[in-house]
Amino acid sequence: MASGSGSLMWFRKGLRIHDNPALQYAAEGTKFLYPVFVIDPHYMEPDKNAFSLGSARAGLNRINFLLESLADLDSSLKKLGSRLLVLKGEPSEVLIRCLKEWEVEKLCFEYDTEPYYQALDFKVKNYASTAGIEVFSPVSHTLFNPTDIIQKNGGRPPLSYQSFVKLAGQPSSPLSHTLSSLPLVGDVGSCVISEVPTIKELGYVDIGQDECSPFRGGESEALKRLNEIKNDKEWVATFEKPKGNPSAFLRPATTVLSPYLKFGCISCRFFYQCLQDVYKNVKRHTSPPVSLLGQLLWRDFFYTVAFGTPNFDQMRGNRICKQIPWNDDDELLTAWRDARTGYPWIDAIMVQLRKWGWMHHLARHSVACFLTRGDLFVHWEKGRDVFERLLIDSDWAINNGNWLWLSCSSFFYQYNRIYSPISFGKKYDPNGDYIRHFLPILKDMPREYIYEPWTAPLSIQTKAKCIIGRDYPKPVVLHDSASKECRRKMAEAYALNKDSNGMVSEEDIRNLR
Ligand code: FAD
Repeated sequence: MASGSGSLMWFRKGLRIHDNPALQYAAEGTKFLYPVFVIDPHYMEPDKNAFSLGSARAGLNRINFLLESLADLDSSLKKLGSRLLVLKGEPSEVLIRCLKEWEVEKLCFEYDTEPYYQALDFKVKNYASTAGIEVFSPVSHTLFNPTDIIQKNGGRPPLSYQSFVKLAGQPSSPLSHTLSSLPLVGDVGSCVISEVPTIKELGYVDIGQDECSPFRGGESEALKRLNEIKNDKEWVATFEKPKGNPSAFLRPATTVLSPYLKFGCISCRFFYQCLQDVYKNVKRHTSPPVSLLGQLLWRDFFYTVAFGTPNFDQMRGNRICKQIPWNDDDELLTAWRDARTGYPWIDAIMVQLRKWGWMHHLARHSVACFLTRGDLFVHWEKGRDVFERLLIDSDWAINNGNWLWLSCSSFFYQYNRIYSPISFGKKYDPNGDYIRHFLPILKDMPREYIYEPWTAPLSIQTKAKCIIGRDYPKPVVLHDSASKECRRKMAEAYALNKDSNGMVSEEDIRNLR
């Protein structure tokens, strides 16, 4: 059937009921509503070869977070008289099959700027237009429409936060109308529909509480979290980044709303409005770029630049990315990825990434700087891949944007400013409690050696039940000499980039190696 009296609401991100313009439009004036989520095996299938649990593209923590978010969405839809229809397969093929089989006159889904979704949506929209099905695809994952900002800037994305903020103005308000019921689900014909699967039903082994992220997915959890945040007016009003303790893990120093924003369990416009409400009720508050509201603008900034920059996720062919002769040292990359660099501050952060899928912004700074321009001189794309897979808030635009930033490939160019893998963490956590928590092998190491355990006399290592080189690795590089060498290489690469206006040939890069 090409068209009929129903609407299909295709959930991908935007896993929420509140401020969801696509869902609202889908529900209006329709007899039947098909709320669909497609499980993409490419993203979700267990990968036996993956270096840790999960699929080739996503760590188990993120898959779990997504399933929890879907279960919460399903439960909210059920309260409104509907349910989530879960299907499996290549999403555009599944969608087109549903559109062919069901009586659908409206197809609604949130607009997505990510290249993966752009390609997918192109196929689905093409089919819909030939079949005479109306498509409604509003921008609601970001505060602003990146296309509008790029247009206002003469066709190119603004490359500084300040110019972005000037162009952006005020975002539109979130929808005020809350849905009280939804139309019935129509006949699903021969399409195979399931309930939201459990992690085991997807073929994964349950990792257990110990290994698992403490953050639970879903809109209900997101709204609860946001509510607690906005009730703490003083905290919101004085929020100032980059101040804040990256080693605080029992009570993180920031909101931890990123995974909820990533999956759209919370509307960024609603979050923005809540912050403005708090600001109206306090005498003084911080401002962008350091305020909490300023953080949301950073998010939109990276979305806009990412959308308007061809090859944003790579060095080659990316006109805003400095061409740098990074090395391909797999041994160093693996040591970093597997938390075996011998620098406890770095390794503890990488364990937190593996176990929780979330770390504080400055912790991300530390390990990204260490891998690239700070110590190991490994390509930022390799680190980006590890983050992309393991973060629960893994986000194409933000992750790539921040790796470009931290590696001094774009946006930020002060390559002489390097985070020390020893003194930076110590400043916040001299006793090393964060390290002791995520690297229990070092839990008995005395405070004076916790950041540099290789300097502890053997008698102390023996007493702490941790012999360096046996129970915990020796440092993979010596920070002082490695960082000096990195600075030298960066200076050389920058000089070459300057002469050639950013366009450096592959031969130049080979000569620099
Ligand atoms: P808060 O400080 O509470 O900020 C609120 C929200 O603002 C965040 O949830 C996020 O959506 C946004 N925000 C905050 N900082 C940034 C920033 N620097 N850039 C863009 N948006 C920001 N964030 C992701 O969401 N996904 C990623 O894949 C990601 N990869 C990163 C990789 C590197 C190398 C670095 C240095 C940072 C990365 N970030 C990423 C940005 C930032 O670290 C996280 O957004 C933040 O730590 C999430 O914690 P929070 O929600 O408590 O942040």
